[in-house]
Amino acid sequence: MTGYVHSFETFGTVDGPGVRFVVFLQGCPMRCLYCHNPDTWSGGGTPYTARAVLEKMTRNLAFYKTGGLTVSGGEPLLQIDFLIELFTLAKKKGIHTCLDTSGATFDGGNKELLHKFDNLLKVCDLVMLDIKHINERQHIKLTGHSGKNILDFAYYLNMKNVPMRVRHVIIPDYTYKTEYLRSLGKFLKNLSNIEKIEILPFHKLGEHKYESLGYDYKLAETPALDDEDAKNAYEIIKSAM
Ligand code: SF4
Repeated sequence: MTGYVHSFETFGTVDGPGVRFVVFLQGCPMRCLYCHNPDTWSGGGTPYTARAVLEKMTRNLAFYKTGGLTVSGGEPLLQIDFLIELFTLAKKKGIHTCLDTSGATFDGGNKELLHKFDNLLKVCDLVMLDIKHINERQHIKLTGHSGKNILDFAYYLNMKNVPMRVRHVIIPDYTYKTEYLRSLGKFLKNLSNIEKIEILPFHKLGEHKYESLGYDYKLAETPALDDEDAKNAYEIIKSAM
């Protein structure tokens, strides 16, 4: 099975527990206004077999003893068959597997796809789920897509008892509003599989990429969020849980 890779990170410390080998896959159906990796959006990427990716990691396997393998993107679920093969091979070697996803391709009504999700979750130790916005209208405004299936995916992971870390980017004027943060807290309150909630303050480190790709950066006027506000956002979410 061939996967299309954007890049690798051999010393990932923010993409799951411990030190991780991180594979960023190419392609994403979402268009988050704050995305700092717009260079992953389109097709293309470098072809790798699942075996070749794993060999690249296992050359230094001892290095990842406290961590494991994370697949991120782009949106890794676009290449779900490749993911299943890669994680299956990793589990055979006892490697901890983590999927960093927006959940954008989840469709509970598609039996064939659901079967693939079930196969993937059998070999996935942790899902880091990016919840972009709790409000449907705002979700569409922020990402260009509905968020309903993403919330369904969170419920599905809960039902399947798959450990989950929730990630949420706090953006002034978009997600940084008490009403939205409380709604998110109330939603998360229903889930018992949450290991951690990670609040990510909005930053503009990817802005230059938009310019070089010829894309319009719509958040040029939006200020980056400071740590104090990120802490406050976290407290608001927790207070509603
Ligand atoms: S889902 Fe991730 S990669 Fe895709 S546009 Fe959003 S932030 Fe970027």
